Amino acid sequence: AQLDTLDIIVLAVLLVGTVAYFTKGTYWGLAKDPYATSYTAANGNKPAKTRNIVEKMEESNKNCVVFYGSQTGTAEDYASRLAKEGKSRFGLETMVADLEDYDFDNLDSLPEDKVAMFVLATYGEGEPTDNAVDFYEFITGEDVSFANASEPALGNLKYVAFGLGNNTYEHYNSMVRNVSAALQKLGGQLIGTAGEGDDGAGTMEEDFLAWKDPMWTALAEKMGLEEREAVYEPVFGITEREGLTKDSPEVYLGEPNKMHLEGTQKGPFNAHNPYIAPIAESKEIFTVKDRNCLHLEIDISGSNLSYQTGDHIAVWPTNAGKEVDRFLNVTGLLSKRDSVIGVKALDPTAKVPFPTPTTYDAVVRYHMEICAPVSRQFIATLAAFAPNEAAKAEMTKLGSDKDYFHEKISNKYYNIAQALEEIGGGQQWTEIPFSAFIEGVNKVQPRYYSISSSSLVQKNMISVTAVVESLDVPGRPDALKGVTTNYLLALKQKQGGEPNPDPHGLTYDIMGPRNKYDGCHVPVHVRHSNFKLPSDPSKPIIMVGPGTGVAPFRAFVQERAAQAKAGETVGKTLLFFGCRKASEDFLYSSEWEEYKQALGDKFELITAFSRDGPKKVYVQHRLKEHQKEVNELLLQKAYFYVCGDAANMAREVNTMLAKIMSEERGIPETKAEEIVKSMRSANQYQEDVW
Ligand code: FAD
Repeated sequence: AQLDTLDIIVLAVLLVGTVAYFTKGTYWGLAKDPYATSYTAANGNKPAKTRNIVEKMEESNKNCVVFYGSQTGTAEDYASRLAKEGKSRFGLETMVADLEDYDFDNLDSLPEDKVAMFVLATYGEGEPTDNAVDFYEFITGEDVSFANASEPALGNLKYVAFGLGNNTYEHYNSMVRNVSAALQKLGGQLIGTAGEGDDGAGTMEEDFLAWKDPMWTALAEKMGLEEREAVYEPVFGITEREGLTKDSPEVYLGEPNKMHLEGTQKGPFNAHNPYIAPIAESKEIFTVKDRNCLHLEIDISGSNLSYQTGDHIAVWPTNAGKEVDRFLNVTGLLSKRDSVIGVKALDPTAKVPFPTPTTYDAVVRYHMEICAPVSRQFIATLAAFAPNEAAKAEMTKLGSDKDYFHEKISNKYYNIAQALEEIGGGQQWTEIPFSAFIEGVNKVQPRYYSISSSSLVQKNMISVTAVVESLDVPGRPDALKGVTTNYLLALKQKQGGEPNPDPHGLTYDIMGPRNKYDGCHVPVHVRHSNFKLPSDPSKPIIMVGPGTGVAPFRAFVQERAAQAKAGETVGKTLLFFGCRKASEDFLYSSEWEEYKQALGDKFELITAFSRDGPKKVYVQHRLKEHQKEVNELLLQKAYFYVCGDAANMAREVNTMLAKIMSEERGIPETKAEEIVKSMRSANQYQEDVW
């Protein structure tokens, strides 16, 4: 009988595993202490690295670089999947590169036999992600120039491109569109088509899978690549460090970097280095039993962190203990959860995404997004390691049949461990190399919250208004619990000394690594935004913020009330707020009264309660009812702000505003839409939506 592909893969992996086993400890050969350099990010002692991508590719013998511009980790994940696939299917020598880590003025010397891939997310209002700002400005700049000054500058460049966007935003996938146009203008040659994934339609993963196959075909033809039998090759080597225990001082138990491990957290605090901030106060602000909304006061005094009204705070979550246990159990690692492991990239261009030595428990609890949706491609990769034939067949089918995958996995909102539990029928998946999880599961992403306090009023105390995510999913015994917001809920319960601090049995480890978060601390950093009040407080403003979309507007109104109290002239401050019922989820209902005292007629709150009357009323309906006033304020150059739900509300408000202007000004709707557009480009219309 012939061996099928999967058998070959399994044999190959067993062989690799055996070699790794027998060479344990000496496998790395070269460095004296293989762990010494394994993770240096964010501690300020990074070894000097080249920012020259051509040089980097030459010295590491690569012929394909996959750049990513990523905000929430998805683009980064797609980039590493492309790199892995390029290597395993076509023998390309691939590397993944953060756009932020390189300069691009020598892109013109990338030799013709190499290829560059760009995986680019578009953020917010058509903006580049934080790590892609410099690259974007360079490549789309008016006077872009390169080291070699040949003509056309990028005549040698072969590239492929995929964008991650959301069609509910106006500038849909503008990053990939603009970058690809800029590269072509400079003579770059696009292979295949520039793919576009749509998060708004919920088809990102499928768009990516549908784009990449024809891309590989086109690329293989262009570069003369031969497809070969794909074999799983681990990117990371894992060694158990028998001399160390979880109590050894050099072992990371979830500390984000060396300074935190050594107990001296030091700034600057940023996306690579969180500040472990005390929560000064936490309370529930809904008055209904089955839903929660948290108001937190996070103390940043002494951290050197600063914020401005309208900025975002990022919260670094911890996975629920219940899900950590599920993951370790189904992968057969439960009894080894506290074993100390060293993780080393087997390829010099790969980065270990967390500091080591560490434990399985710490990696799964603090560094892997284990609760996120599962990718179909990852399921296909894991088929080779199934515990039995039936599970292997099921995994293969799930991996290749998109509708079947949807029905069995996506529709139930399963995470990876739940999927493996169900498919394995109770058997553990002990054959999966841990490296496959490091590669296939995203790293934990901080979640952003629109700061709901004014920096003028409380410079060192950041308010957060967060609704706790809990989703009932048909066909599942338990509700889907949002990672971060339920963690924050647990912290609040603990701080409040509530009799049942863990209502959903999620068992968060709220004390943090080595009890460092004791006394209610949470790791955070601040992200600056462009969502800003007019610098002149006498300018009128109109704000539309239903639900937690009111968060930044609490900050705006708080700031204007303080300015009015201080004797400044404050312009009209009009707020549209919406929720279900006045008696249940009317956020900050009593605070608005206080602001009214300070602002008098300058402040007007207009509410829409969708479930209080016979008819559902939303903010856009109230906007319409007040169209005369809205239009007049706009004629006085009022700033218009929208915050909250990107999928529906923000778009409907946009449409309604155009309608209002058209009716009030007696102009065609198309003309009014043009006006809204120009308001957006002049920053007179600002959105903070998610
Ligand atoms: P997650 O665990 O991240 O889950 C969120 C959702 O993802 C779930 O509801 C579900 O739809 C989906 N999901 C999760 N797991 C799966 C799975 N296995 N399968 C399928 N689907 C899944 N929120 C606020 O409450 N207040 C704010 O002021 C605020 N401001 C924001 C500002 C910005 C700029 C952005 C980008 C977001 C903001 N958010 C705000 C949203 C916030 O960042 C979080 O997304 C939200 O709190 C949920 O986080 P979580 O970790 O609790 O849930």
